Amino acid sequence: MDAPGKPLPGRLPSVDRLLRHASSAALASAFGRVPLTDAIRSVLGGLRSDVHVAAQHVAAQADDDGIMQSVAALLGRNAVPSLRPVFNLTGTVLHTNLGRALLPAEAIAEVVRVAEGASNLEYDLDRGARGERDTHLERQLCLLTGAEAATVVNNNAAAVLLVLNSLAARREVPVSRGELIEIGGSFRLPDIMSRAGCRLREVGTTNRTHLRDFEEAIGPKTGAVMKAHASNYSIEGFTAEADEALLARLCTSRGVPFIVDLGSGTLIDLERLGLPHEPTPMESIRNGVDVVTFSGDKLLGGPQAGIVVGRRDLIEKIRRNPLKRALRLDKMTIAALSAVLRLYEDPDRLVARVPTLRLLARKAGDIAACAARVLPVLVAALDGIATAEVIDCDSQIGSGAMPTRRIPSAALALRPVSVRGSGAALGRIAVALRSLPVPVIGRIAEGRMVLDLRCLEAHAEAAFVAQLPGLRDALVPAKAGAARRPDDDGVAGR
Ligand SMILES: *Cc1c(COP(=O)(O)O)cnc(C)c1O
Repeated sequence: MDAPGKPLPGRLPSVDRLLRHASSAALASAFGRVPLTDAIRSVLGGLRSDVHVAAQHVAAQADDDGIMQSVAALLGRNAVPSLRPVFNLTGTVLHTNLGRALLPAEAIAEVVRVAEGASNLEYDLDRGARGERDTHLERQLCLLTGAEAATVVNNNAAAVLLVLNSLAARREVPVSRGELIEIGGSFRLPDIMSRAGCRLREVGTTNRTHLRDFEEAIGPKTGAVMKAHASNYSIEGFTAEADEALLARLCTSRGVPFIVDLGSGTLIDLERLGLPHEPTPMESIRNGVDVVTFSGDKLLGGPQAGIVVGRRDLIEKIRRNPLKRALRLDKMTIAALSAVLRLYEDPDRLVARVPTLRLLARKAGDIAACAARVLPVLVAALDGIATAEVIDCDSQIGSGAMPTRRIPSAALALRPVSVRGSGAALGRIAVALRSLPVPVIGRIAEGRMVLDLRCLEAHAEAAFVAQLPGLRDALVPAKAGAARRPDDDGVAGR
């Protein structure tokens, strides 16, 4: 028998009637009439399609008011942009999934300036004629790297593709077997090479490749020789690789271009930050490498971009490739990259102004002090649910820079109070952290949720702390019998 007031699907109100509901005018002006109509249809559709689910909350929202509450909640959720800020407490400073480098304030200001109005993006103001967008970056890149010429594309994967296709299409490219890298799933050097129309010629062995291996491999079919930075792994023990300067000399004598993909590529000596040495484009150019590629949003600390520096004749050939047009940078990226490069011209203030470098340089003691300040709020929020303590931990650079190198840091470690089902409890804590207004992303290790505070800088600490009490609401189960609206599904309910 039907419970009194439970509407059968056929008895649901019409869209038109709900559009005339008292709350509709305000919702339409806040969210727009089309999204409102769409949300009403969507909520009605949900009620109609699953009578059983509907039956549970129909008691609470059988009437038009209840349905309109669901509509308002849905509109609110849809209004949140899909791409939004999070707190990166993973301990990986350059996290590809979390957007890699944070832009310096100077770069953001330039993006805004150039986005607001027309610019001389491809217009030569001296000649009053069509210009080339690379000119906004080339002088700075040459100054910083010592190269003769430079061009820039959408990312480093694009740079490698474009360089190989421009210089070695339908030809062989010898690469050491120790450098046939895969980076983050979709970038595999052998695949990029075949897409660029080149034939990969493997030389040497996984652990040892010598100059003579290249000497033997270079022949009439060779289009270019390539070296790639082993970004996300290291080979230790009985190893050898061909010396870059000697390989450059060999390539010059045989008349084939020598390409080096540096991956991260830093423009400063990282030893200044207490980190181990990472190869720089300057060194490669000095060694006689013809073309060097590296990323804009890894250790450089700028926007996503692929930077190509090297010999003028080769860069011009690369620029003439029609693929360059398909891979080109947009004006906002050019503005940001130019602003970041300008910061490199003032080395004394560089680390303080480039967030990536500043985060990497942060001392463990400073991070531990931050953790100690945050701890009491977290302990209070998780009372009875999980314990929290400050622990030492290791951060890493990420994005393929020095994969084996750890940087001492400090973290908040959360452990569920009940040992039984603690895996599921940890999962719920992770979900609750992600459901906060600014989602918090940590990592689970050894039965704990670890929040490495390296990337929580002083200016964001208050905002982080302010939302922690919300964890409690997300974790404490709704009281039995309370009506759960269908739109709560998947947020804190699992
Ligand atoms: C990261 C990396 C790439 C890809 O660079 P993106 O800027 O992510 O496209 C290519 N080569 C190496 C060696 C890398 O480390």
